[in-house]
Amino acid sequence: MADFVALLGTKGGPAIRPGSTMPTASLLSIGGQRVVVDCGLGVSRGLIDQGMRLQDIALIFITHLHSDHYLELGPLLHTAWTAGKKTPVQVWGPPGLEVYWQGFLGSMQADIDLRIEDEGRPDLRAMVSIHEVTVDRPMVFDALQVTAIRTLHPPLIDTYALRFATAEKAVVFSGDTAFLPALADFARGADLLIHEAMLGEALPALLARVGNGDERLMRHLLRSHTLAADAARIATQAGAKALALHHLIPSDDPDFGPDEWHASVAPHWNGPFYLGHDGMRIAF
Ligand SMILES: [Zn+2]
Ligand SMILES: [Zn+2]
Repeated sequence: MADFVALLGTKGGPAIRPGSTMPTASLLSIGGQRVVVDCGLGVSRGLIDQGMRLQDIALIFITHLHSDHYLELGPLLHTAWTAGKKTPVQVWGPPGLEVYWQGFLGSMQADIDLRIEDEGRPDLRAMVSIHEVTVDRPMVFDALQVTAIRTLHPPLIDTYALRFATAEKAVVFSGDTAFLPALADFARGADLLIHEAMLGEALPALLARVGNGDERLMRHLLRSHTLAADAARIATQAGAKALALHHLIPSDDPDFGPDEWHASVAPHWNGPFYLGHDGMRIAF
């Protein structure tokens, strides 16, 4: 199986509107293993569109507990189960993910009990294990080693960038973060850096469009997310071999398209560049 990352959902933030792209979710295929990274709304459909059988999901990472990154985790696992899943799934994420999972199971208890009793399914509850991401030591899955660092995404604290590495290849996801110089070291020499990004000049129009926030929303964006130009600087400092942007803010403003994103990135990055869109598959 070739190594690739499929960007399943590429918009920043949880809201969807007519014509919009979907919140954050990605599929990483590396060294014969497949990992789902974040489970925003639309992740199940996105995986199916990539030709992935949901019952084959074995490993999921959630970067942090904002809904645009885990709203569809429960529905994905439940759907994998009804699609015939018999084997265990590990889900790694921040503290608090277990509360979400138990709450999801509680909300679907009638259906789950019914399908076990009426259809002879194995118990979904026994199939899924939730684990807390560790930043002090790598998480190891056969030949795949995953390391994490905390990002800068206030007011949340347990927010992670993730590095997935085999002996041959490495891919880094920035997670949600403000400009974080430490990411340059963390992403050193990566074959692909997938960084979140925001287009600065488009923000005033975005705030006007949202209509029900005040200057606090602008402050939140600026202290919690990274401008495209800064993401490009990180990639250059890291010596990454390729850069992809996702979690795009804005994602649905016709006045700000690929030309504007490329113009923001170009002065700071010379290598292969992918402006993410839903369903984009990047070989590395
Ligand atoms: Zn987000
Ligand atoms: Zn976030």
